[in-house]
Amino acid sequence: MLKVNGIDVYYGKVQALFDVSIEVGDREIVSIIGANGAGKTTLMKSIMGINKPKNGTIEYNGQVISGLPPHKVVSKKIVYIPEGREIFPNMTVQENLEMGAYSVKLSKAEMERHLEEQYEIFPRLKERAKQKAGSMSGGEQQMLAIARGLMSDPELLMLDEPSLGLAPVIVDDMFDVIVRVNKVRNIPIAIVEQNAFMAMSISDRTYVLEVGNLVTHGESKTLMDSDEIKKAYLGG
Ligand code: ATP
Repeated sequence: MLKVNGIDVYYGKVQALFDVSIEVGDREIVSIIGANGAGKTTLMKSIMGINKPKNGTIEYNGQVISGLPPHKVVSKKIVYIPEGREIFPNMTVQENLEMGAYSVKLSKAEMERHLEEQYEIFPRLKERAKQKAGSMSGGEQQMLAIARGLMSDPELLMLDEPSLGLAPVIVDDMFDVIVRVNKVRNIPIAIVEQNAFMAMSISDRTYVLEVGNLVTHGESKTLMDSDEIKKAYLGG
């Protein structure tokens, strides 16, 4: 389980997160919603060790991980898929997936098994295994970014704006895939999203960030019924 305990994060003198606490339980999908600049990415980067909290701690499975450099956080099997799907456009889909397992050094047989696992969850990628990744649609590239992250067998997956820039019909597919990954792989997933409706629809619990402050959190179903949340985040 991931526990963020009251972190304050600064960029120089400017404070971006104020006493933020969140938890992600073992099997949960948790969404973190908020407007542009609310601090969602900052929170993810803090968990990954890219930003160092000035106060507060971050624990993973009972160990304090705040203060660790990013590669040590990754070695705890926490995988972060940043926004903007940074795939390798000139490599094929399969080569991109193989790169995802680079840090875990798989045998040939294990590599095959890992690839097959991804192709089962993402059949579209199997059809396109030999295609240059950069020539795929935005949605397919986003799926590839997630599948590549799964190649290293994460125990916690963190997705930053997986629906960013995708057409509405593709957004539905994307969130279906996230639910499937959670079910098939049995891993917790934390999603940062501006698409509050979709993120809340598929998550167990939601945290709401406003200008660096956590303003409310709770079961997604309950929050979706709240008038304030409806007005502020769900278009009335
Ligand atoms: P978006 O949805 O637009 O990505 P966000 O909720 O992820 O927004 P952050 O990217 O975490 O928000 O930004 C939170 C605040 O911190 C913003 O005011 C932003 O300008 C500031 N910020 C983010 N990164 C830096 C940086 N490297 N240096 C200085 N300020 C930063």
